[in-house]
Amino acid sequence: MAVDYLNDLISIVGKENVLTSEISLDTYKYDAGLIYGNPDVVVFVENEEQIASLLKFANSRKIPLVPRGNGMGLSGGTVAQLGGIVMVMTRLNKILEVDPENRVAVVQPGVTNMEVQKAVAPYGLVYMPDPASQKVSTMGGNLGENAGGMRGIKYGVTKDHIIGAEVILTNGETVQIGGKLEPIAQELNLNLLLQQSEGTLCVATKIYLKLSPAPKAQRTMLSIYKTLEDAGKAVSAIIAKGIIPCTLELMDNKVINAVEEWLHIGLPVHAGAVLLIEVDGWDVGLDRQAQQIVDICKEVGALEVKLARNEKERADLWVARRMSIGAMGRMRPNYDMEDATVPRNKLPEIFKYVTSLSEETNIPIGMLAHAGDGNLHPLVLFDERDEDEMRRVQYIRDKLFRKAIELGGTLSGEHGVGLGKLEFLNLAISKEYLKYMRAERLAFDPNEILNRGKTVPDPAA
Ligand SMILES: Cc1cc2nc3c(=O)[nH]c(=O)nc-3n(C[C@H](O)[C@H](O)[C@H](O)COP(=O)(O)OP(=O)(O)OC[C@H]3O[C@@H](n4cnc5c(N)ncnc54)[C@H](O)[C@@H]3O)c2cc1C
Repeated sequence: MAVDYLNDLISIVGKENVLTSEISLDTYKYDAGLIYGNPDVVVFVENEEQIASLLKFANSRKIPLVPRGNGMGLSGGTVAQLGGIVMVMTRLNKILEVDPENRVAVVQPGVTNMEVQKAVAPYGLVYMPDPASQKVSTMGGNLGENAGGMRGIKYGVTKDHIIGAEVILTNGETVQIGGKLEPIAQELNLNLLLQQSEGTLCVATKIYLKLSPAPKAQRTMLSIYKTLEDAGKAVSAIIAKGIIPCTLELMDNKVINAVEEWLHIGLPVHAGAVLLIEVDGWDVGLDRQAQQIVDICKEVGALEVKLARNEKERADLWVARRMSIGAMGRMRPNYDMEDATVPRNKLPEIFKYVTSLSEETNIPIGMLAHAGDGNLHPLVLFDERDEDEMRRVQYIRDKLFRKAIELGGTLSGEHGVGLGKLEFLNLAISKEYLKYMRAERLAFDPNEILNRGKTVPDPAA
């Protein structure tokens, strides 16, 4: 579509930062999920002044605008399904400060999670949330989606580690929320509203991260099961004994084989599932904790529990988990990484259900899970050029989300609602709750410029 406001954009960010060619628009049409949009124009911003002017302009003309980090989201959060402007934030990529005394880092939103980790490591510090996409996902995107990760079970997710932000509203105003101190009792906590707002309230331009001392030691093990359900049972058993590992990740037989075929790490290819389990903290006491976990796993039916004997063995186990999505991606032209959460003790039931869906539809599904959080990521493999397969994939999604809700779970553990889960939102959220979510959204962005039509839908639309 011809854009009649190009000169306005050029006057704000300069000609070189406004892209309209077909190939550029195609490049910014989608995120890491399955939904495609239709942006009219892509704009790169470099500083706060440009962002404020762009927001004010879009607001004055009621043009939809999508803030975008690295587009690694999986729910269509950065897809411009209504056209309009995609505003790319990746050039705001500076680590502004690492303050070891207050254990805080201040970063721009385009910095990746991994860049933060690297910057704080020399101080003996760590930023705890570690999404599997950490090499590429930005802190703006992590904040937008409240990203989780492998350490979530013990250390929490993004909302537990972002303590403040400087944000720009659609009227161009800048607001400081929180800061170097964790929210204290003098104000309503807008910081919490911001987390997981999926770019529907405001645009974060500076983010304050809580840092933690790096754990001194770890023990890492691979617990091997005959069936997926057995592995699911072990998860609840470990937690029920009062042990909180820092990692409790699950991979099923399909995932194990996909990784092994690619990387030849020596994973047990005949196992129904494995759990990657890690405990961390001070060295003293870790052997005892690890042994307790080994005993519990064996009690509930583990075939074997292998403790990593050195750093190389530990690194191999982590490579297996971190590369597992890519490994599955090699198996078929497309994959869709689903995301739902159930109470931990319902994991065996939902695993069984997903297996039955795979058999019923003849669509391969591998299972990955941040199992300690009850957060499952079925990896559905298909070819999107095949309409019949696409119908079956949609059927699987529909059944999966209904089942998760029926079991007392949620539609998402970490990938958000965006566009991808909108059709299921009424299963999970009451009309009354949605009404207050809408009120919150409209208080910040009355013209619904930011990510219009996503996350917090207008029930009347
Ligand atoms: C292989 C793979 C593995 C993944 N593993 C995980 C995982 O383990 N845990 C997890 O939680 N997620 C995971 N994800 C999902 C994804 O990486 C995260 O959602 C991540 O936070 C997205 O970051 P991004 O920079 O790509 O954000 P984008 O996709 O660009 O944006 C995400 C949302 O944030 C909004 N946004 C972006 N920047 C700003 C800003 N400055 N201010 C306000 N809003 C903003 C956008 O509008 C959008 O709604 C994975 C994805 C892939 C493809």
